[in-house]
Amino acid sequence: MTIEEGEKERNISKRARAVFIDRDGTINEDKVYLGDVRNLEIIPGAVEAVKLLKKEGFLTFIITNQSGLARGLFGPEDLERIHDKIRENFPLDGIYYCPHHPDEDCPCRKPKPKMLLDVADKFQVDLKTSYFIGDALSDIELGQRAGCKSILVLTGKGKETEALLRERGTPAEFVAGDILEAAKWIKKVESVKLKVEG
Ligand SMILES: [Mg+2]
Ligand SMILES: [Zn+2]
Repeated sequence: MTIEEGEKERNISKRARAVFIDRDGTINEDKVYLGDVRNLEIIPGAVEAVKLLKKEGFLTFIITNQSGLARGLFGPEDLERIHDKIRENFPLDGIYYCPHHPDEDCPCRKPKPKMLLDVADKFQVDLKTSYFIGDALSDIELGQRAGCKSILVLTGKGKETEALLRERGTPAEFVAGDILEAAKWIKKVESVKLKVEG
C-alpha cells in the first residue's frame, strides 16, 4: 500500500463525530408545544454555539420530540415553518423529530434511541466520540444509552433535570449554564484530547 492509499484508507475508516442537540429549552425557549413560528425565540448564544461546533468539525443534528403533532396542537406545515427558520439561522446537518404521542409507544420518542441510531448509521457517526446536549432527563438518558457524552444545559427544564439526575445518581458528563457554555466546554475537551493524542 502506498502512503496515499494508506491515507485514503484512514480517512474512510475515520467516522464522523457529531453533536446531537435537543430543540425546545436548548436552542430555543421552551414554549410548550410551540406551533407558531412567530413565537420561536432563540436562546442567546445558541447560534454562536452551533457555529463553534461546526468549526470544530462536528456534524450537528437536532433530535426533538414533537408530540404536539399527534396531539393535534399544530400541523406538519407549522413545524416545517419553525424548522425552516431554525435552518436559516443554524448550520445544521439535519433536524429529526418524533411526531408521536407518548401513549403510542413508538421506537423514536426520546429517550428511545431509534432517531439517534438512524442518524448515526446514515452519517457514519462514531457515538463514542459524540455528544448529546439537552435540558430534559430524556436527553441525558438517551445520550448515556447511546454511549455519547451527555451535557445538561440549565436552560429550559434544566434545573429540574439536574435534581432528578442527582436523585438517580446518573449525572451528566458536564452541566452547562446554556448551549454556548456547553459548546465551549466541548471545544476545550477536544483540544486537550488532541494534545494527548499528539
Ligand atoms: Mg428540551
Ligand atoms: Zn416516535
